[in-house]
Amino acid sequence: MKLPVSVEITEVGPRDGFQNLKTFIPTEVKIQCIEKLVESGLKRIEVTSFVHPKAVPQMADAAEVLTAIKQKFSKRITCIALAPNLVGAKRAIETGADEICFVISASERHNLENTKQTVEQSLAAFESVCKIKGNVIVRLSVVTAFTCPFTGVVPPENVTRIIDAGKAAGTDEIMIADTIGTANPLQVESLLDLLIPRYGNDFVLHIHDTRGMGLSNVLIALMLGIVRYETSVGGLGGCPFAPGAAGNIATEDFVNMCHEMHIKTGIDLNKLVGASRMIETVVGAPLSGHLVRTSCGK
Ligand code: ZN
Repeated sequence: MKLPVSVEITEVGPRDGFQNLKTFIPTEVKIQCIEKLVESGLKRIEVTSFVHPKAVPQMADAAEVLTAIKQKFSKRITCIALAPNLVGAKRAIETGADEICFVISASERHNLENTKQTVEQSLAAFESVCKIKGNVIVRLSVVTAFTCPFTGVVPPENVTRIIDAGKAAGTDEIMIADTIGTANPLQVESLLDLLIPRYGNDFVLHIHDTRGMGLSNVLIALMLGIVRYETSVGGLGGCPFAPGAAGNIATEDFVNMCHEMHIKTGIDLNKLVGASRMIETVVGAPLSGHLVRTSCGK
């Protein structure tokens, strides 16, 4: 089996995970959770999302969280903020994000539900973001790249259309997301087999684990030479109505799999599992990750 020597992990729990929790987590507690994640060796953390506070009240303190983390860890980590539109991206840039994750859905219907914009409008906004980004790195997230929760299987042409437009606009990075976690390894292989010859393998992959196929999907991607992944501590994320329900691949499970297969991550697994346990107490419900249930890190 051909595997990469090392991988780059972006932790998205403080955004993808927390945004799904109904009970507001106090800003200082969010900051403490992120501090724990930094201590485990994570160098890239998506700390918040600049969405409208009415849409996602949990992220109403986006500017406070980002500012505090920048002050504490400037230069030690890359502080990433999600933005679904131009207004959010401007706020993220003004607040000092090192990197913006700009979301466009490969499904027209999901894009409307998620961002209240058509794909065309989102692409126009993304072009404007690229013009004002300055030194800020921009990651274009192509979400629902496999399946849309409303309309089913997403044609790969929808994905390549957004990538082509994003590259023309000047994106620094491209991310492909299985937002609802329904993709299987065959689908992942098939989409990557289409994308890699066309664009190279410098993609970021963001896989949810709703049906338990997350790490299998990642294994296929590793074998195809993809080295950049987004995962979430404890497996946080997924369903806004089921705290702790299966969301993203748990960062610690992915780190463990990498280490077992001699792939370097730069992360202290014991400390990361400790962070996961601490976050579990904050969430107040069992997390879906596997390693957090073992004696690892105790
Ligand atoms: Zn996600």
